[in-house]
Amino acid sequence: MKIVICLSVLLWAPLSEASLLKSALPFPDWLRDFTGLTEWPGLDPPYIPLDFINFAAIEPSSNHKIGECNNILPNSCSFDCSNCVSTEDIFNCPKLSQTFDDGPSAFTLKLINNLKTPSTFFTLGTQIVKYPEIYKQAMAKGNVMASHSWSHKYLPELTNEEIIAQIEWSVWAMNATGHHLPKYFRPPYGGLDNRVRSIVKQFGMTNVLWNFDTHDWKILLGQRKASDILKDITNHKSAGNGLILEHDHSSQTVNVGIDINKILDGQLTVPQCVGGVNYLRTF
Ligand SMILES: [Zn+2]
Repeated sequence: MKIVICLSVLLWAPLSEASLLKSALPFPDWLRDFTGLTEWPGLDPPYIPLDFINFAAIEPSSNHKIGECNNILPNSCSFDCSNCVSTEDIFNCPKLSQTFDDGPSAFTLKLINNLKTPSTFFTLGTQIVKYPEIYKQAMAKGNVMASHSWSHKYLPELTNEEIIAQIEWSVWAMNATGHHLPKYFRPPYGGLDNRVRSIVKQFGMTNVLWNFDTHDWKILLGQRKASDILKDITNHKSAGNGLILEHDHSSQTVNVGIDINKILDGQLTVPQCVGGVNYLRTF
C-alpha cells in the first residue's frame, strides 16, 4: 500500500480568522454554556477539558512534523510514515467505494446530486460552520457524515490537548448541524499513530484510512489528469474491493468524483463496508 499524504488543503485559499467569523452556523446555547465562548473558534481551537478523557490511557508521544519520520517511536504504528494499520483501523471495503474528504464546500452540492448511492464524507469543522446547509443536504440524501478534525492540522505534531481540541470542536460542529455524534474519523494527511489512536478511541470513534488514493488534488496543480485517475479506477475495478480517497473541496475533484461514480456500481458507505452503525449517537 503506497501512501502519499494529502496536501490538498494547502491548495485552498487560506482560511482567515475573519472568514471564520462569517460562520453561517449559529453558536448553540449548549456550547456557550459548556465552553464559556460565544462564537466558533479559528484554526487553533481552544482545548476544553472533557471529563471522559483519561490522560493516563493516552499512548506515549512520538511528536514529529509531517514527513519527518526518522525519529518516531518504533512501535508507534504510524500510517503516514510506515503504512502501519492497527487491527481496529478501517482501510478497505468489500466493494470498491468512494469516500470524500475536506468538505462540505460549495462544490459538494453538485457531487451529492450526482451520486448513484450514498457515500461517506469526512468533514472539517471549519467547513461545516461555513456550509451547514450543504452538510444537512448531504445528510438528508443518506450520506454518512464523519469527522476529519476541526481545521486539518497534522495531529502527530500537536500536544494531547491540541489533538483533543481538534476532535471535540469537530464533533460539536457536527452535533450542532446534524444532531449526531460521529462514529468514524479520518486523520488529516493520514497522520495516525498510536497516540492519536488512543485519543480518537476515547471519543468512541473508529479511524478510517484508505487503500486507493486517487491523488485527485494533484489535478489542481496540473500534476495529474482526470483521465488518468479514471483509467486507474477502471483497472482497479476488477479487484472488486477497496476504499477510495477523494476530495469534495474543488470543482475539479468533484467532477472526477462524479465520473468515478459512473464507473462503479454497488458502492457501500463505510459503515456498510464493516457492518457498523452510521453514528455513535443521534439526537
Ligand atoms: Zn484532508
